[in-house]
Amino acid sequence: MKYFILFGPPGAGKGTQAAKMREKYSLHHISTGDLLRKEIAAGTELGKKAKSLIEAGNLVPDEVVIGMITNVFDNDKTSKGFLLDGFPRTEEQAVALDKILKDRNSEVTSVISLMIDDDEVVRRIKKRAEIENRADDADEATIRNRVKTYHEKTEPVINHYKSTGKYKEIDGSGDIEDVFTVLCGIIDKL
Ligand code: ADP
Repeated sequence: MKYFILFGPPGAGKGTQAAKMREKYSLHHISTGDLLRKEIAAGTELGKKAKSLIEAGNLVPDEVVIGMITNVFDNDKTSKGFLLDGFPRTEEQAVALDKILKDRNSEVTSVISLMIDDDEVVRRIKKRAEIENRADDADEATIRNRVKTYHEKTEPVINHYKSTGKYKEIDGSGDIEDVFTVLCGIIDKL
Protein backbone atom coordinates (compact mmCIF):
# COMPACT_ATOMS: atom_id res chain seq x y z
CA MET A 1 0.00 0.00 0.00
CA LYS A 2 1.38 3.40 -0.96
CA TYR A 3 0.87 6.53 1.09
CA PHE A 4 1.89 9.75 -0.65
CA ILE A 5 1.82 13.14 1.05
CA LEU A 6 1.53 16.36 -0.92
CA PHE A 7 2.97 19.11 1.20
CA GLY A 8 3.30 22.88 0.91
CA PRO A 9 1.78 26.21 1.88
CA PRO A 10 -1.84 27.15 1.15
CA GLY A 11 -2.27 27.94 -2.52
CA ALA A 12 0.80 25.94 -3.56
CA GLY A 13 -1.33 23.85 -5.91
CA LYS A 14 -1.71 20.72 -3.80
CA GLY A 15 -5.38 20.24 -4.69
CA THR A 16 -4.74 20.78 -8.41
CA GLN A 17 -1.79 18.40 -8.57
CA ALA A 18 -3.57 15.87 -6.35
CA ALA A 19 -6.49 15.67 -8.80
CA LYS A 20 -4.05 14.91 -11.62
CA MET A 21 -2.15 12.35 -9.54
CA ARG A 22 -5.37 10.62 -8.52
CA GLU A 23 -6.28 10.23 -12.17
CA LYS A 24 -2.88 9.04 -13.37
CA TYR A 25 -1.98 6.69 -10.51
CA SER A 26 -5.47 5.61 -9.33
CA LEU A 27 -4.92 6.89 -5.81
CA HIS A 28 -7.56 7.70 -3.24
CA HIS A 29 -7.15 11.47 -2.76
CA ILE A 30 -7.87 12.64 0.78
CA SER A 31 -8.05 16.39 1.29
CA THR A 32 -8.73 17.27 4.92
CA GLY A 33 -9.75 20.78 3.79
CA ASP A 34 -12.39 19.31 1.42
CA LEU A 35 -13.61 16.91 4.12
CA LEU A 36 -13.97 19.79 6.57
CA ARG A 37 -15.80 21.96 4.02
CA LYS A 38 -18.24 19.05 3.46
CA GLU A 39 -18.89 18.86 7.20
CA ILE A 40 -19.54 22.62 7.25
CA ALA A 41 -21.89 22.42 4.25
CA ALA A 42 -23.78 19.54 5.89
CA GLY A 43 -24.10 21.53 9.13
CA THR A 44 -22.73 18.73 11.32
CA GLU A 45 -21.49 19.32 14.88
CA LEU A 46 -17.93 18.86 13.64
CA GLY A 47 -18.58 21.36 10.85
CA LYS A 48 -19.98 23.93 13.24
CA LYS A 49 -16.87 23.70 15.40
CA ALA A 50 -14.51 23.85 12.43
CA LYS A 51 -16.20 26.76 10.64
CA SER A 52 -15.01 29.68 12.76
CA LEU A 53 -11.49 28.28 13.06
CA ILE A 54 -11.16 27.82 9.31
CA GLU A 55 -12.67 31.21 8.52
CA ALA A 56 -10.12 32.88 10.79
CA GLY A 57 -7.27 31.05 9.06
CA ASN A 58 -6.50 28.82 12.04
CA LEU A 59 -6.13 25.05 12.18
CA VAL A 60 -8.82 22.77 13.53
CA PRO A 61 -7.80 20.57 16.49
CA ASP A 62 -5.43 17.69 15.71
CA GLU A 63 -7.78 15.02 17.09
CA VAL A 64 -10.52 16.12 14.68
CA VAL A 65 -8.46 15.66 11.52
CA ILE A 66 -6.70 12.56 12.85
CA GLY A 67 -10.15 11.04 13.45
CA MET A 68 -11.27 11.95 9.94
CA ILE A 69 -8.20 10.38 8.33
CA THR A 70 -8.55 7.21 10.41
CA ASN A 71 -12.18 6.90 9.29
CA VAL A 72 -11.29 7.21 5.64
CA PHE A 73 -8.57 4.54 5.90
CA ASP A 74 -10.86 2.21 7.84
CA ASN A 75 -13.68 2.55 5.33
CA ASP A 76 -11.59 1.97 2.23
CA LYS A 77 -10.73 -1.67 1.66
CA THR A 78 -10.12 -1.44 -2.10
CA SER A 79 -7.74 1.41 -2.97
CA LYS A 80 -4.16 0.60 -3.88
CA GLY A 81 -2.80 3.81 -2.50
CA PHE A 82 -3.66 7.06 -0.80
CA LEU A 83 -2.71 10.63 -1.50
CA LEU A 84 -2.87 12.91 1.50
CA ASP A 85 -3.38 16.60 0.76
CA GLY A 86 -3.38 19.03 3.70
CA PHE A 87 -2.45 16.35 6.25
CA PRO A 88 -0.31 16.16 8.33
CA ARG A 89 -0.23 19.85 9.13
CA THR A 90 1.35 19.69 12.60
CA GLU A 91 4.08 17.62 14.23
CA GLU A 92 1.39 15.89 16.35
CA GLN A 93 -0.49 14.89 13.21
CA ALA A 94 2.71 13.54 11.65
CA VAL A 95 3.40 11.44 14.76
CA ALA A 96 -0.21 10.19 14.75
CA LEU A 97 0.03 9.27 11.07
CA ASP A 98 3.20 7.25 11.69
CA LYS A 99 1.34 5.29 14.34
CA ILE A 100 -1.79 4.77 12.23
CA LEU A 101 0.33 3.44 9.36
CA LYS A 102 2.48 1.28 11.64
CA ASP A 103 -0.70 -0.31 12.97
CA ARG A 104 -1.54 -1.11 9.35
CA ASN A 105 1.93 -2.63 8.83
CA SER A 106 2.79 0.21 6.52
CA GLU A 107 4.58 3.55 6.35
CA VAL A 108 4.68 6.83 4.43
CA THR A 109 5.96 6.20 0.90
CA SER A 110 6.99 9.71 -0.09
CA VAL A 111 6.47 13.33 0.93
CA ILE A 112 6.58 15.86 -1.90
CA SER A 113 6.55 19.52 -1.11
CA LEU A 114 5.38 22.17 -3.57
CA MET A 115 7.41 25.28 -2.86
CA ILE A 116 6.14 28.81 -3.52
CA ASP A 117 6.95 32.05 -1.71
CA ASP A 118 4.58 33.96 0.57
CA ASP A 119 3.76 36.73 -1.92
CA GLU A 120 2.88 34.16 -4.55
CA VAL A 121 0.61 32.42 -2.00
CA VAL A 122 -1.32 35.64 -1.40
CA ARG A 123 -1.49 36.44 -5.12
CA ARG A 124 -2.79 32.97 -6.02
CA ILE A 125 -5.36 32.80 -3.25
CA LYS A 126 -6.75 36.23 -4.14
CA LYS A 127 -7.13 35.00 -7.71
CA ARG A 128 -8.81 31.80 -6.51
CA ALA A 129 -11.26 33.92 -4.48
CA GLU A 130 -12.57 35.33 -7.77
CA ILE A 131 -13.35 31.81 -9.03
CA GLU A 132 -14.21 29.71 -5.96
CA ASN A 133 -16.25 30.87 -3.03
CA ARG A 134 -14.15 29.89 -0.02
CA ALA A 135 -14.71 32.01 3.07
CA ASP A 136 -11.06 31.63 4.09
CA ASP A 137 -9.90 33.05 0.74
CA ALA A 138 -11.99 36.19 1.04
CA ASP A 139 -9.76 38.70 2.81
CA GLU A 140 -6.06 39.35 2.95
CA ALA A 141 -5.75 39.27 6.76
CA THR A 142 -7.12 35.70 6.81
CA ILE A 143 -4.80 34.64 4.00
CA ARG A 144 -1.81 36.17 5.84
CA ASN A 145 -2.83 34.32 9.00
CA ARG A 146 -2.92 31.04 7.06
CA VAL A 147 0.60 31.74 5.80
CA LYS A 148 1.73 32.52 9.37
CA THR A 149 0.09 29.33 10.63
CA TYR A 150 1.88 27.42 7.88
CA HIS A 151 5.29 28.76 8.92
CA GLU A 152 4.70 28.26 12.63
CA LYS A 153 2.92 24.91 12.77
CA THR A 154 3.18 23.15 9.43
CA GLU A 155 6.64 23.93 8.07
CA PRO A 156 8.36 22.22 11.05
CA VAL A 157 6.75 18.96 9.87
CA ILE A 158 9.36 18.97 7.08
CA ASN A 159 11.99 18.09 9.68
CA HIS A 160 9.91 15.10 10.71
CA TYR A 161 10.34 13.62 7.23
CA LYS A 162 13.73 14.96 6.14
CA SER A 163 15.66 12.44 8.19
CA THR A 164 13.72 9.55 6.61
CA GLY A 165 15.08 10.29 3.14
CA LYS A 166 11.51 10.31 1.81
CA TYR A 167 11.19 14.07 1.57
CA LYS A 168 11.47 15.90 -1.76
CA GLU A 169 10.91 19.53 -2.69
CA ILE A 170 9.83 20.81 -6.06
CA ASP A 171 9.29 24.30 -7.41
CA GLY A 172 5.54 24.94 -7.38
CA SER A 173 5.71 28.28 -9.13
CA GLY A 174 5.75 26.95 -12.69
CA ASP A 175 2.64 26.19 -14.71
CA ILE A 176 0.39 23.27 -13.80
CA GLU A 177 1.63 20.86 -16.47
CA ASP A 178 5.32 21.61 -15.80
CA VAL A 179 4.90 21.01 -12.06
CA PHE A 180 3.01 17.79 -12.80
CA THR A 181 5.81 16.55 -15.08
CA VAL A 182 8.36 17.03 -12.29
CA LEU A 183 6.02 15.39 -9.77
CA CYS A 184 5.51 12.33 -12.00
CA GLY A 185 9.28 12.11 -12.52
CA ILE A 186 9.68 11.63 -8.77
CA ILE A 187 6.83 9.15 -8.39
CA ASP A 188 7.85 7.07 -11.39
CA LYS A 189 11.31 6.59 -9.90
CA LEU A 190 9.99 5.24 -6.60
P1 ADP B 1 -5.24 25.49 1.89
O1 ADP B 1 -4.19 24.48 1.57
O2 ADP B 1 -5.53 26.40 0.74
O3 ADP B 1 -5.02 26.25 3.17
P2 ADP B 1 -7.15 23.41 2.73
O4 ADP B 1 -8.38 23.16 1.96
O5 ADP B 1 -6.10 22.36 2.75
O6 ADP B 1 -6.61 24.77 2.09
O7 ADP B 1 -7.49 23.77 4.24
C1 ADP B 1 -8.41 24.76 4.59
C2 ADP B 1 -8.46 24.94 6.10
O8 ADP B 1 -8.95 23.71 6.71
C3 ADP B 1 -7.12 25.18 6.80
O9 ADP B 1 -6.74 26.55 6.79
C4 ADP B 1 -7.44 24.67 8.22
O10 ADP B 1 -8.19 25.59 8.94
C5 ADP B 1 -8.32 23.46 7.96
N1 ADP B 1 -7.51 22.23 7.86
C6 ADP B 1 -7.30 21.49 6.74
N2 ADP B 1 -6.50 20.45 6.99
C7 ADP B 1 -6.15 20.54 8.30
C8 ADP B 1 -5.33 19.78 9.17
N3 ADP B 1 -4.66 18.70 8.74
N4 ADP B 1 -5.21 20.17 10.47
C9 ADP B 1 -5.86 21.23 10.93
N5 ADP B 1 -6.65 22.01 10.17
C10 ADP B 1 -6.81 21.67 8.86
